[in-house]
Amino acid sequence: MRDLRISVTDRCNFRCNYCMPKEVFDKDYQYLPHKALLSFEEITRIAKVFAAQGVQKIRLTGGEPLLRKDLERLIEQLAALRTPEGLPLDLTLTTNGSLLARKAQSLKAAGLQRVTVSLDGLDDAVFRSMNDVDFPVADVLEGIEAARAAGLGPIKINMVVKRSTNAHEIMPMARHFVGSGMVLRFIEYMDVGHTNGWRMNEVMPSSEVIKLIQTELPLVPLEPSSPGETAQRWAYADAFGQPDPALGEIGVISSVTQAFCGDCNRARLSTEGQLYLCLFAVRGHDLRTIIRSGGSDVELATSLSQIWQARSDNYSELRSALPADTGVLVRRVEMSYIGG
Ligand code: SAM
Ligand code: SF4
Repeated sequence: MRDLRISVTDRCNFRCNYCMPKEVFDKDYQYLPHKALLSFEEITRIAKVFAAQGVQKIRLTGGEPLLRKDLERLIEQLAALRTPEGLPLDLTLTTNGSLLARKAQSLKAAGLQRVTVSLDGLDDAVFRSMNDVDFPVADVLEGIEAARAAGLGPIKINMVVKRSTNAHEIMPMARHFVGSGMVLRFIEYMDVGHTNGWRMNEVMPSSEVIKLIQTELPLVPLEPSSPGETAQRWAYADAFGQPDPALGEIGVISSVTQAFCGDCNRARLSTEGQLYLCLFAVRGHDLRTIIRSGGSDVELATSLSQIWQARSDNYSELRSALPADTGVLVRRVEMSYIGG
């Protein structure tokens, strides 16, 4: 267990149709009440126990994490945690970028190291229709610039590709970010939860994305930077077919066409303290009850290691229940609840 993702809110100011479609997440949608949310102190306590058990990286996510009030206070607390070797954790955050121009400086000052910004295209009309709240692309680009200026790099940019909606934005995005020092990552559109009306023919396989980019910008494959890395890395090549550091790299996340469960080392903590070891999990493990019923850190640590030990068994059960020809599992947890 190396990588912990913490969802700090189930709310969002966007309505990306692949994640929080408007028809479902409308004005009557019941979000979690405030008292259900883990407090910053509770999150930090859980994160500390995880760090003692080997977690080296924490990513804050949501919903939109920058909507959580005083998030900087949580970041300060998490930045003070240490691994058993005495090292700080790698502390990062995934955001839609809408509040980044305003917050980049204070996030950095609080101890955040890096950000990943989601951006599904550069064409304003396409982007506005994908976020479905008419949010302009220029404001996200301004947020990315502010993050860069604040030193929140290396910045990653996540683009979810839906074939009929933004596949034609792949090349403009590649051209925009090549040589920028930022790593653009293409994510296969996944069957999240049960609200986004997912269809396989909307998935553009990563192999196709790579082929398309190669037609204009030659690429060479790179080794994974760490075990359990979800993105396959590709470097832009120089005239000799070698990786060109000046041009940088891209990544593809093939969560549909090539599930990467085998060496997965991540855990996800939902906004209300449910621990999920798999994005495809049907149910989580309730850590909030352990802490709110007076459980000690030792009890928490024991539960965590039991949950983690049992994981492979659960996983093989899931796998064997699948038809042999499918790479897609049935997923029941919404992405906005558990975080990406
Ligand atoms: N609101 C933040 C954001 O959009 O970056 C953080 C939370 S969001 C759930 C995290 C990541 O999940 C984003 O990069 C988003 O594009 C991705 N995501 C959401 N729904 C997805 C889907 N159906 N398929 C693939 N990626 C998805
Ligand atoms: Fe919000 Fe992020 Fe989901 Fe879009 S992907 S609706 S920005 S949580």
